Amino acid sequence: MSGEERTIVGPPAGRDQPRFAGFRTFAKLPRRQDVERCDIAVLGAPFDSASSFRPGGRFGPAAVREASMLLRVHNHALGVSPYAVAQVVDAGDAPASPVVPELGFAAIEAAAAELTREGARVVGIGGDHSVTLPLLRAADAARGPLGVVHFDAHTDTDDAAYGSRYTHGTVFRRAVEEELVDPRRAVQIGLRGTRFSDTALEQSAQLGYRQILAQGLDVEAAIATIREVVSGPTYVSIDIDVLDPAFGGLSSTPEIGGLTTRELLALLHGLAAPGIEIVAGDVVEVTPPYDPAGLGALAGANLAFELISLIALQR
Ligand code: MN
Ligand code: MN
Repeated sequence: MSGEERTIVGPPAGRDQPRFAGFRTFAKLPRRQDVERCDIAVLGAPFDSASSFRPGGRFGPAAVREASMLLRVHNHALGVSPYAVAQVVDAGDAPASPVVPELGFAAIEAAAAELTREGARVVGIGGDHSVTLPLLRAADAARGPLGVVHFDAHTDTDDAAYGSRYTHGTVFRRAVEEELVDPRRAVQIGLRGTRFSDTALEQSAQLGYRQILAQGLDVEAAIATIREVVSGPTYVSIDIDVLDPAFGGLSSTPEIGGLTTRELLALLHGLAAPGIEIVAGDVVEVTPPYDPAGLGALAGANLAFELISLIALQR
């Protein structure tokens, strides 16, 4: 952040305006157009037409914004009040086509790239996991091949499905092919579930990703592995199905045996390390139509706040 003097606009004080009242921007933050410049921007990517199973992620950004009304402003675990030290805004939703994936991706990339050019770090809210590809393209254009911390039940490194190379299950293979991601600086965490074959996990290891399975996960050991593998400019992608369904992991393809929210929070707090610079991130696969209690949206809003806090901490 530059040393020049400027006013930071945060949400209205929670004791002045009841948290359930007011406009539904993320955490009641100002909109992009309400402030002159921004450091961190929340961007909705409401696209779910590359999902292989249950659709509905297009409603994720709206549900996460609604759940974010509950959020307060101070992150005790990380020791930061992100809206006080950085200008955080809600940049609205990219106008992604729900019927033509190429157009959907182009709209998401254009919206994220404009924010990146303005000097903002983008926290994307999906949408199915395919939206990470245009978000990575926008972040990568600014910073070169990125390290990745990828929380997910799935590796998302298939080559193709149903005739398309661009689905929510292929994004982390395309990202390596497009040299958006440096797989030697990338970790996938929370992997589990039934598989299409006995070699399904090998395909992502062969691309270079380090893998940490949900089975037998040890939080402290996982943090040590992340800090050993990941360095430099880094993208953090959180597929909500890294969480157990009981904790809100209600994605388009949920899997049992997942992480608790407490474990995931501890892992995220472990990313506050000198060698890791988080340049952008996302929370994807919140799928409200299959989540009547709103557990995924509640988790998603809090996880987005953690990403914002981690980025603010660096500034
Ligand atoms: Mn995924
Ligand atoms: Mn997944």
